[in-house]
Amino acid sequence: MIDKNDLLKKLPKMDELILDERIAKAIADYGRNATLEALRTSIDKVRAGILSGIHKEPDAVQIIEDALKLAKTNSRMNLRKVINATGTILHTNLGRARLSESACKAVCEIAKNYSNLEYNVEEGRRGERYDAVSELLRELTGAEDSLVVNNNAAAVLLALSALAKDKRVIVSRGEQVEIGGMFRVPEIMNQSGSILVEVGCTNKTHYADYEAVLDENSVLLKVHTSNYKIIGFTEEVPLKELVELGKKYETPVIYDLGSGSFIDFSLYGIQGEPTVKKVAADGADVITFSGDKLLGGPQAGIILGSKKYIDIMKKHPLTRAFRIDKMTIAALEATLREYLEEDRAIKNIPVLNQITADMAELHDKAKRLFEKVEKAGSNADMTITEDKATIGGGSMPGQFIDTYCVEIKPYNLSVNDMESRLRKLDVPIIARIANDALILDVLTVDEADFEYIARSIYEVIS
Ligand SMILES: *Cc1c(COP(=O)(O)O)cnc(C)c1O
Repeated sequence: MIDKNDLLKKLPKMDELILDERIAKAIADYGRNATLEALRTSIDKVRAGILSGIHKEPDAVQIIEDALKLAKTNSRMNLRKVINATGTILHTNLGRARLSESACKAVCEIAKNYSNLEYNVEEGRRGERYDAVSELLRELTGAEDSLVVNNNAAAVLLALSALAKDKRVIVSRGEQVEIGGMFRVPEIMNQSGSILVEVGCTNKTHYADYEAVLDENSVLLKVHTSNYKIIGFTEEVPLKELVELGKKYETPVIYDLGSGSFIDFSLYGIQGEPTVKKVAADGADVITFSGDKLLGGPQAGIILGSKKYIDIMKKHPLTRAFRIDKMTIAALEATLREYLEEDRAIKNIPVLNQITADMAELHDKAKRLFEKVEKAGSNADMTITEDKATIGGGSMPGQFIDTYCVEIKPYNLSVNDMESRLRKLDVPIIARIANDALILDVLTVDEADFEYIARSIYEVIS
């Protein structure tokens, strides 16, 4: 019978463990407090094990290894990179748009240094933070003026608060959308102090429906139903006609475009998403859209419009509350600069790159992932399958992008276990399950991550 007290006396002391060179390295990597805390936890665990009779001899090597693992896990960033193998390009839960290299570089540069954020260096006087992007936005969209806030939800709320307070806002019943969370058209109206006037039916709204309720104390709001689609017997009033109507009654037309694309995706087989330039040319007085949907930039709400309306919005107190950060402006400017040449934008902005991906290239990409996983020694049935990916982020409903996936059916564990273990890695791999197999869609995966994916799959399923 081993005496528990004798075993407890054999527990290594902190002073001794600290001398281990791996612990010294951990202190350098994770900090002294975090490392010592992990060591303490690790010793406590063995002590508890001895007291409950599970542990026989305390093992210093094991204690150190457990502590190192713990220190590493504890110091891991809560917000961190994941590998998106779902095929959903603008995955709301996975951070929507990835930024271009140029945008990332710009963010770093501006974050680390002082900048001319609100300073006009030419003239040595105060400047406006929006100056960095306003000229670019004018050039790319043809809109007279612009303002950028934190996200499109803020943009819509600001536009209505500044331009439609105590006014009647006319919206089609077919455009009463919930964008997510509690962000619904009626709630925004309430919040902005405007009065919602619904016209038409869910599937059809006519010009006459708008005209019947319109007066000089109204605002026309059009919402691009970018996160759902009514199919079949439908009719909406084209923006151009709403603009005519607005002119007739001198009421502004606000268009919540949602996604906002600078590229004509119909050239790539994707219909129903008008370019911002077209919408601006059709004469909407105010246009709002997201920076991190189809534009492929940072989270932002971009507001375009005539100077008259933008000036009113700039003076509204919410503009200060919704003010964008310098890192966002840096990322947005760099993203907009890519659009100065469409080819460059498509090549350099990940969202565009993915949407326009070539099928033959995707097939080759899937083959390379397949081979890497196979070479790592996978214990599974694997095939390459043709599949449909989605754009996501409430963009382009019912529109799919052809893609290729690597389908894996593990021999030694359930596909659910495999999915969950890949999800819990240091760099989580987020995959789909379908037909009792794990599906890795290569469309949204960076080739640079293939090696890591192959190694991780090997570790998980062997
Ligand atoms: C996505 C979306 C919004 C919200 O934009 P955020 O940038 O997510 O705040 C608003 N309106 C429409 C039509 C949208 O599609």
